[in-house]
Amino acid sequence: MKITDIETIVLRQKQIYWERADSTQDALIVKIHTDEGIVGLGEADSSPEVAQSIINAPKVLKYCTGLKELLIGEDPLDIERLWDKMYHGALKLGGRGAVIQAISGIDIALWDLKGKALGLPVYKLIGGGFKNKIKAYCSVLFPPTSEEVKELTLKAKEKGFFAIKFGWGNFGIDPKNDEALVRAAREAAGDDMEIMVDCGNCFRGFHDAFRTAKMLEEYDVFFMEEPFWTDDLITYAKLSEKTNIPIATGEKSTTRFQFLELMQKGKVDVVQPDIARAGGISETLKIALLADLNGSMFIPHAWSTDVVIAAALHVNASVKNSLFVEYCFEETPLRKELAVEPIGMEDGYVSVPEKPGLGVELNEEVLEKYSV
Ligand code: MG
Repeated sequence: MKITDIETIVLRQKQIYWERADSTQDALIVKIHTDEGIVGLGEADSSPEVAQSIINAPKVLKYCTGLKELLIGEDPLDIERLWDKMYHGALKLGGRGAVIQAISGIDIALWDLKGKALGLPVYKLIGGGFKNKIKAYCSVLFPPTSEEVKELTLKAKEKGFFAIKFGWGNFGIDPKNDEALVRAAREAAGDDMEIMVDCGNCFRGFHDAFRTAKMLEEYDVFFMEEPFWTDDLITYAKLSEKTNIPIATGEKSTTRFQFLELMQKGKVDVVQPDIARAGGISETLKIALLADLNGSMFIPHAWSTDVVIAAALHVNASVKNSLFVEYCFEETPLRKELAVEPIGMEDGYVSVPEKPGLGVELNEEVLEKYSV
């Protein structure tokens, strides 16, 4: 089998939900075509047009070649070799960031293609399943008032979620208000539901974050996410060493190299690679192994279409120590409408797809509707 074309489709919602669901408002869908008619489906979570350009760029110099040019005519089943070829072939364009996000979309599509070619779900190809359904955590942004936090937590609890994560919103502005919001979440959650807090890089430095970390400890918060920007490794390490609450980060990071630094220099306790950004399924499995070796928890980030959620489910299934799948509670059109059979949550669990490949089929009419 040979790769004959790589098609990229930019999707964008007409109504922009910047505040509530930033990375679910657009998407870059990747389709890998072959001479045998099998098509692999993937998604890159990036600025769609930037990732598209990296895929479509011509060959100009050595190590400066677009990803499509590198893959045409190749055997799509040689995924590890093709990842290596893309990484080095485009290295002058960047070994982190958007280049890796573009590689992620292609890598996911290659795994989907391989599963379809062999008639097996992806998780069977990457080690097999430790579990066939994954615990979901409900992912939302902090509403403005304690009352709304309480309502949202009760709603998630009623739906069966084992955990709820509240993100930035107006968190990190007034310490008293922060505590009121977290207290409301804990009161509504009770003792049998985990609470997580995503700070969204809101702190002005170590002391600001340290005070909040101590407050979050009082309410037994499961982890504190993104107190600082990705490269603030020294500050991350300081916070991790001086507090008991697990510190989480990684949604903006790419490759095994960056995650190794986060764990070893930044002493990060929970790594959150996004499969459509960090380097795809192949790279995220390596990051999972590093997390295991470094004693860090592994909870992938997933805030886009069902293509990304499916990829996260297959990886979660095959990683023994994975804890949760992130389940975006913000219902934007691209989250709800794109898959023919949307991935749903039942009693707090999301089932791992059993159909060949990722097990996701996209609705072509919806693709056209949002295509730019
Ligand atoms: Mg986050």
